[in-house]
Amino acid sequence: MPEPSARHLAPPAPGAPHPNAPTVLVVEDDPFLRTVLIRHLTSVGHPVRSVGTALGALREVAGAGCDLVVLDLGLPDLDGADVLKMIRSVTDVPVIISTARDDENDIVRLLNDGADDYLVKPFSGSHLSARIAAVLRRSAAAAPPTTHLLEVGGLTVDIRRREASLDGQRLDLTRREFDLLAHLAARPGAVITRKQILAEVWQDSYGSAQTIDVHLSWLRRKLGETPTAPRYLHTVRGVGFRFEAPDDRH
Ligand code: CA
Repeated sequence: MPEPSARHLAPPAPGAPHPNAPTVLVVEDDPFLRTVLIRHLTSVGHPVRSVGTALGALREVAGAGCDLVVLDLGLPDLDGADVLKMIRSVTDVPVIISTARDDENDIVRLLNDGADDYLVKPFSGSHLSARIAAVLRRSAAAAPPTTHLLEVGGLTVDIRRREASLDGQRLDLTRREFDLLAHLAARPGAVITRKQILAEVWQDSYGSAQTIDVHLSWLRRKLGETPTAPRYLHTVRGVGFRFEAPDDRH
C-alpha cells in the first residue's frame, strides 16, 4: 500500500497550529536560523514561541511555560550551560540543546546537567522533528510507571521478576547487567552518559566509568552483538550510549 502523501495528513497552515500540539520555545540568537526553525516547527503543527536571549528564555520558561525547549548554547548574554541549569532549577520541561560546537565534553556535561538530547548544527528540520518526538515520547512515558514490563523490539524486560528475554530466549544476566539493561530499556532512544549510569543505576557503588564499559561489553555479548555490528546498544562516540530497537531493514 502506498504511503499517504503529506498532503493528506491534515496540513496545518502556518499560523494555524494543531490543537493540543506541544508548544516549542525556540531560543536562538541568530535571526536567520531562528526564522528557519520557527517556519519548520510551525509547518509541522507546533505552536512556537521564540526568544534570542538567555534572559528572554528564562522569562518564558518561568512565565507562560512551554512543552519543550530548543536551546542554542551560544547566546549573547549568558552561557548556554548556565541557562540550562537555571531552567532545570524551575522546571523539568524537556530541553534539546542546539550547538555549533561539536565539543564532546560539553555535550556530556550538558546531558549530565539535565539536557534531554542535543543536535549539532547544522541539522535538518526532519532531524529536529524526530528528536522532539522521541524526547516528548520519553517524557510522557517517564511520568507514570504504569507497567513492570519493558519492551524494545524483540527484547522484553520484566522488572518485577527481574527477568529479560531476547526474541523469546531467556537472557542469563548478572544483577549489574540486569540493572543496566532495565535502565537502558526504560529509555529507548535516549543518549545516556556513563556518569548517569553511575549515579542512577549503580549509585556509585560498583566503581568507575571503566567498569561500566566492562559490564556493557558483557551485556552486549549476551545480546548477541558487537560494537562494530550493534543492534540495540549503540555507542555515541565520546558521549555515551543509545539503546534502541534495531531497524527491521537488513
Ligand atoms: Ca547562537
